[in-house]
Amino acid sequence: MPVEMNSIAGLPMQPQTGFVPPSGGADGRASAGNAHRRIRVEDKSIINSKADVNQLVPFKYKWAWEKYIAACANHWMPQEVNMSRDIALWKDPNGLTDDERRLITRNLGFFVTADSLAANNIVLGTYRHITAPECRQYLLRQAFEEAIHTHAYQYIVESLDLDEGEVFNAYHEIASIRDKDEFLIPFIDTLTNPAFRTGTPQADQDLLKSLIVFSCLMEGLFFYVGFAQILALGRQNKMTGAAEQYMYILRDESMHCNFGIDLVNQIKLENPHLWTAAFREEMTGIFRKAVELEYRYAEDTMPRGVLGLNAPMFKEYLRFICNRRCQQIGLEVMYPGASNPFPWMSEMIDLKKERNFFETRVIEYQTGGALNWE
Ligand code: FE
Repeated sequence: MPVEMNSIAGLPMQPQTGFVPPSGGADGRASAGNAHRRIRVEDKSIINSKADVNQLVPFKYKWAWEKYIAACANHWMPQEVNMSRDIALWKDPNGLTDDERRLITRNLGFFVTADSLAANNIVLGTYRHITAPECRQYLLRQAFEEAIHTHAYQYIVESLDLDEGEVFNAYHEIASIRDKDEFLIPFIDTLTNPAFRTGTPQADQDLLKSLIVFSCLMEGLFFYVGFAQILALGRQNKMTGAAEQYMYILRDESMHCNFGIDLVNQIKLENPHLWTAAFREEMTGIFRKAVELEYRYAEDTMPRGVLGLNAPMFKEYLRFICNRRCQQIGLEVMYPGASNPFPWMSEMIDLKKERNFFETRVIEYQTGGALNWE
């Protein structure tokens, strides 16, 4: 049957025979000439595996599968959050200060397009290069969560009746937002370039670099000023609907960030030759640049103190987070002694507390999602 080999629902077909083939490459295609055999755990690797990517089991990367299960149990949708108090506050001419309004619109200005960049990075890039089916399963779930987040930001913009054109174009028109995205885009372009293939030390380092930038800096650093700002509003009983949306998003994003870090560490473990001194030095330079860009964004969103927050507090916070990301992937700490000026943010990220906080919603989904066949 002369069809594109991976064209039928992801099932690889061998053109000559139509026979479901032996082992496949990263794109799910058969490699001609391999005899069929069932895959073994030891055949699997995170990148450059020659084993059939369609065989989820036997499991090798249980941490990825467990994160997939946990992410599904955390399912939520933006419309479930009541926005009426936010709408009333936003419409009240005395409800918020000009600085608070600026902070909210600039904040949304970054986020409305950020999760779309994240989704593109996964679907058009990362997914193709990761050859462990357990990880692909999580990436599919993560991609949907990025869609939910874009939906949540759009839903807030729509609820508040903000100027959509202005908010959705902020990443072109507001320098502090544009600079962050322009920093990220080359790393996304590496993975989404159709000609990019892993399998050489150079290409594998490029992949690793992009994965680190994406998990540690985009999801792990660039998101955190914005989350802290809206959650700080919520703590003052303002924009409580938006703050609740951000709580759900923060919970998802902490898992995206942790998954990305696990992925990076697993690739390092399987390919120690990629982690050279020159590579580590280059990463440190990239981290430093990201901290500077995020600090400029903090200054731009909060030119004066607002909500008991100010830009210098974020300088310390960013250094603290950057240190943690370095430690998580095995880089030298860059800002020794930096401390966390927002301990309440850590509490919100604490998984045990989150699980309690969201328990009702999670249980609801686990029963509400089941079909009744009687
Ligand atoms: Fe994400």
